[in-house]
Amino acid sequence: MANGTLRISQPKNEKVLSYATNTIERGEVQQEYDRLYNQQIEIPLYIGNEKVFSGNKESISPPHNHQHQIGTYHKASQHHVQQAIEASLKRKTKWAQMPWESRASIFLKAAELIAGPYRSQINAATMLCQSKTIYQAEIDAACELIDFLRFNVYFMRQIYADQPISTDGVLNKLAYRPLEGFVYAISPFNFTAIAGNLPASAALMGNTVVWKPSDYQVYSANVIIEVFKKAGLPDGVINAIYGDPEMITNTVLDSRDFAGIHYTGSTQVFQEIWKKIGNKIHQYKSYPRIVGETGGKDFIIAHPSASVKALSTAIVRGGFEYQGQKCSAVSRVYLPESIAERVLDLVISELRTVKLGSPRDFENFMTSVIHHKAYNRLESIIKEIKASKEAQIIFGGRCNQQVGYFVEPTVVITTNPKFKTMEQELFGPLVTIYSYPDNEFEKTLKLVDETSPYGLTGAIFSQNRDAINKALQELQHSAGNFYINDKPTGAVVGQQPFGGSRASGTNDKAGWSLNLLRWVSPQLIKETLVPDIDYRYPFLSKDES
Ligand code: NAD
Repeated sequence: MANGTLRISQPKNEKVLSYATNTIERGEVQQEYDRLYNQQIEIPLYIGNEKVFSGNKESISPPHNHQHQIGTYHKASQHHVQQAIEASLKRKTKWAQMPWESRASIFLKAAELIAGPYRSQINAATMLCQSKTIYQAEIDAACELIDFLRFNVYFMRQIYADQPISTDGVLNKLAYRPLEGFVYAISPFNFTAIAGNLPASAALMGNTVVWKPSDYQVYSANVIIEVFKKAGLPDGVINAIYGDPEMITNTVLDSRDFAGIHYTGSTQVFQEIWKKIGNKIHQYKSYPRIVGETGGKDFIIAHPSASVKALSTAIVRGGFEYQGQKCSAVSRVYLPESIAERVLDLVISELRTVKLGSPRDFENFMTSVIHHKAYNRLESIIKEIKASKEAQIIFGGRCNQQVGYFVEPTVVITTNPKFKTMEQELFGPLVTIYSYPDNEFEKTLKLVDETSPYGLTGAIFSQNRDAINKALQELQHSAGNFYINDKPTGAVVGQQPFGGSRASGTNDKAGWSLNLLRWVSPQLIKETLVPDIDYRYPFLSKDES
């Protein structure tokens, strides 16, 4: 037994590399992209100590070049899902009993591997299979995932150190047990970091996990698994399975040992899963933890005092980076009439310089959307806008899926603040603008609050402190992450813990200790050093006569 408590210093956020012309990192990632692009890989399921090649295969192609195949992945049958559950339960006790310092060192090693030898591979994989530019891949797949892994270890140490008081002759201790059973992680396509964090955060706290990544992120998920294995993660701690999401989920939720779900994805899917859990609640050993970060309809509201340049930059970056496929992406903007024209002129002149194409060409600021379903959804909404009397496209609006699923950055103005594109999450490069009379700022704040069911991110642009404070007050439930004079995207682990409420999720704040607390079930242990040996309290003594 190695006595002593490991000191974990507060981590610093991983430095974002520039990838500017002639940098070493640029050459490395381009070379890696080309290597991956020109090879075929076959991705198995990872169940216990086995790589499972089920034979039921699906091909993988870059969304920006959908005719080109880069590999295949194997899909799970119901039997494989059962095996993954069994593998996680089999490993459970040993993993939970492993000293926390050892769990910490495995995940810290994973962070070091991503920061070093795997950086270009995980970035290139994310560029290829999720169509991210190198900058978007770097801030996600490398930096954010590294930060999640390092900061979570730091938060875990803080949680374990958070103890009740002991008194004379009595020792009190909270034992932060992992949940009883296994955790199910379901991740979305759009962030490699989220995909890695959903299973890893629960595993770090001593849980074993069945992980189902999105079908559209399997390629970079495979790199994550490889890194975890290389870092020494024991077999069976995280079991990765791919395939029919409904069948996999139904099978998992049927297990009596299902102890919690760590989900990120659309609201509708989460609500259906929650209902299923509710319907089966009598069969579980414990009440399952339900943690879900879901959709958004993220806003910017500008006050007449807003800086026009800062605001237009925030609209371009916040609305169109990663093709608007961030849960936090700006998709509805409220501009005061006095500055609307100047802001829109600037946005449009900036968008004219934006290039759209493959992420392999580093001059492209935007690439394609993720798949044909997203493409079709966006194409059909653009058709609806074109046919509407209440809205008009003032920039973009063209789509082309010959080579990849390309949708131009599209700016819409509407006269109806409740127009469909002001209310619904569309998850693409489409920003809708509504102009309001300058003297209706407060009324417009109410409109922002009431227009959509979500509550994920939002921003106020203003140089006037009273206006900022008014917005903070009126919009306190409209956004879990609220920004003042900044775009509402780009949350950094440890700096801006992320998550929304209302239809946007359970707001358990990824990248903070609050999230990790969901993966433990504390047990209080009281030890009395010299126990009483007489049940009689002094008050039971007789009154003196
Ligand atoms: P999605 O809902 O299509 O898929 C998310 C995950 O759920 C995937 O793994 C998918 O395979 C699985 N899934 C799909 N149907 C299912 C079903 N019937 N039963 C069980 N699982 C099912 O979402 P997506 O397109 O991958 O990601 C985009 C969505 O995720 C957007 O709504 C976005 O706002 C949200 N998102 C939210 C956050 C956040 O932090 N709030 C972060 C990233 C993405």
